[in-house]
Amino acid sequence: AVRIHRVSKRFGTHQVLDDISLTVPSGSVTVILGKSGSGKSTLLRSINHLERVDDGFIDIDGELVGYRREGRTLYELKEKDILARRVEVGMVFQGFNLFPHLNVLENVVEAPIAAGVPRADAEQLARELLARVGLVDKPDAWPRQLSGGQQQRVAIARALALKPKVLLFDEPTSALDPELVTEVLDVIRQLARSGTTLVIVTHEIGFAREVADTIVFMDRGRIVESGSPGKVLGAPEHPRTREFLSKVL
Ligand code: ATP
Ligand code: MG
Repeated sequence: AVRIHRVSKRFGTHQVLDDISLTVPSGSVTVILGKSGSGKSTLLRSINHLERVDDGFIDIDGELVGYRREGRTLYELKEKDILARRVEVGMVFQGFNLFPHLNVLENVVEAPIAAGVPRADAEQLARELLARVGLVDKPDAWPRQLSGGQQQRVAIARALALKPKVLLFDEPTSALDPELVTEVLDVIRQLARSGTTLVIVTHEIGFAREVADTIVFMDRGRIVESGSPGKVLGAPEHPRTREFLSKVL
């Protein structure tokens, strides 16, 4: 499980995360909703320590993210240890973050090879993952030769190549042309069904309803409401959730 325990984060005087607690059980899917600026990306980025939190902590299967504990005090890990730990968390962003100078296969094998996996094993896994995301025939293609949807599916294969304990998606389809959204959501849906632990920030409410075990609604750095899709989307209790949903549904 990913456990976020009383996490707060400020940028200057701006409280971007305000006492957030959330547990994402292994094998479950959590979707985070909320309007722009509510702190969704900052929360995701905290889960792999791309952001340093000011208070609270996050652990994955009991192991602290970014810190070690000595007595009551938390000490930030050294950069090398942060990087080593970060392989447990895969992340797919909105933009296409493939390496433009590497072909598809090399994009997927790069991180495992850097982590010490023998090339032959890394390539075999990469080909399996490319098949899973529907790109079995594209290992030699260059990123610029692919559609946005195909690039995003390579990004998913690349994130899976390190066998992360949890996969984070930050608006994975919002930069895509509408006709390309479905193919990416189909891949994420398949991951959800296969029991991959997922945390997804998206504005695709229909998709959220379908795949989420839990929907979390954020507002001004706080979780104001969370629960099953039926509850949060069907019978929202908080005025801000209602206001948000009335605009997007
Ligand atoms: P969006 O839906 O637009 O992606 P979000 O919910 O992901 O929004 P965040 O990106 O987490 O929101 O940002 C939350 C707040 O923190 C915003 O007000 C943003 O301007 C601020 N913020 C984010 N990153 C930084 C930073 N590096 N320095 C200062 N302020 C920041
Ligand atoms: Mg964001």
